[in-house]
Amino acid sequence: MIATSYLEISAKAYRQNIRYIRSEIGPSTVISAVVKGNAYGHGIQQMVEIAEKAGIRHFSTFSSDEAWEVFRCSKKKSEIMILGMLYPEEMSDIIKAGINFYVYDFRRLELAVTISKSLGIQAKIHIELETGFHRTGFEWSSREKLATYLKEQMDHIQLKGLCSHYAGAESVSNFVRVKNQIEVYNNFKTYFNQKGIHFEKYHTACSAATLIFPETIMDMVRIGIAGYGFWPTKETFFAKLNSLPKANKNPLKRLVSWKSTVMSIKPVKMGEFVGYGNSFMALQNMRLAIVPVGYAHGYSRLLSNQGQVLIRGKFCNVVGTVTMNTIALNITNLKNIEVGDEVVLIGKQGNKEITVASFSESTQQVNYELLTRLPKDIPRRIIP
Ligand SMILES: *Cc1c(COP(=O)(O)O)cnc(C)c1O
Repeated sequence: MIATSYLEISAKAYRQNIRYIRSEIGPSTVISAVVKGNAYGHGIQQMVEIAEKAGIRHFSTFSSDEAWEVFRCSKKKSEIMILGMLYPEEMSDIIKAGINFYVYDFRRLELAVTISKSLGIQAKIHIELETGFHRTGFEWSSREKLATYLKEQMDHIQLKGLCSHYAGAESVSNFVRVKNQIEVYNNFKTYFNQKGIHFEKYHTACSAATLIFPETIMDMVRIGIAGYGFWPTKETFFAKLNSLPKANKNPLKRLVSWKSTVMSIKPVKMGEFVGYGNSFMALQNMRLAIVPVGYAHGYSRLLSNQGQVLIRGKFCNVVGTVTMNTIALNITNLKNIEVGDEVVLIGKQGNKEITVASFSESTQQVNYELLTRLPKDIPRRIIP
């Protein structure tokens, strides 16, 4: 079977990103590679392989199904941590497999203790604190009850971590909110420590926090987007620019390239419309290249008459509407384009590049969204 497009995932770029992040966090902080959302669209299987070869031994997922996928792919007995969803009926298997998970309320905590007792296996839990994100996490007001319960049950569970998540560390406009969160977190930590409750790892930082709020770097950082070679926002890049190792040179490298081929070439006469409706009329005699990638493959309809791709090292514009399975490109001024030529939707060709940012700006998606919307069934190829 040959798919209509494929993704190349660069292991070399990943190694570079990890080197850079390592240089920011020092030698002893653990990097947990966040692989939720099908590893930000890169493919869990491919990313676990690449990351383990780059020395990563800790992975974070949103849910238990993703955790099982990492579990199946891991060849190095890496630690796996579920940050979010886990159904009660799956907890027993998760504990048996030694998979870590977040505990953010008493309901889950009590269940973890009950199951640990009946299995005779200690659940590996991370206590998640509410510090201002307002999604999940124990409230400040519950600290006493929580501390008492943890002390009682200490023999049945492993306190692997004390953690929280920042609400918008990627923007300086959230500076005050993030500072407050750090303070609340530290108050919790001091409170538990004074009660004699200690955790194996203290961790709060995502990519943005790691890169622009170094005080959030503790025993572990949970790195998603930066591992894949993207700055969480433009703002984080500019905030960091002057302090980069080689002044103004972006140390993060994109892993993903997205490629397809020319499927057909077609002449269109002046005055004719291209594709559905009348959003594009040929103002001259034109030639189009048809490419077998459309919104069903993750190429947003918002790129109708907007998108650009590379063929034979030259930029070509999308004309007309993006259809479910195809786009049409204006190649009127390009010679020598043939059916079968490589088309780059994201990535480099010759000395030109289509960035994910250029995409996401014209579709109002954040790069996180564009990446995670790349369908799972597009083949991913690791390139060394
Ligand atoms: C997604 C997520 C991360 C990683 O965020 P990035 O911005 O991609 O680095 C870290 N921690 C938690 C709890 C998350 O949900």
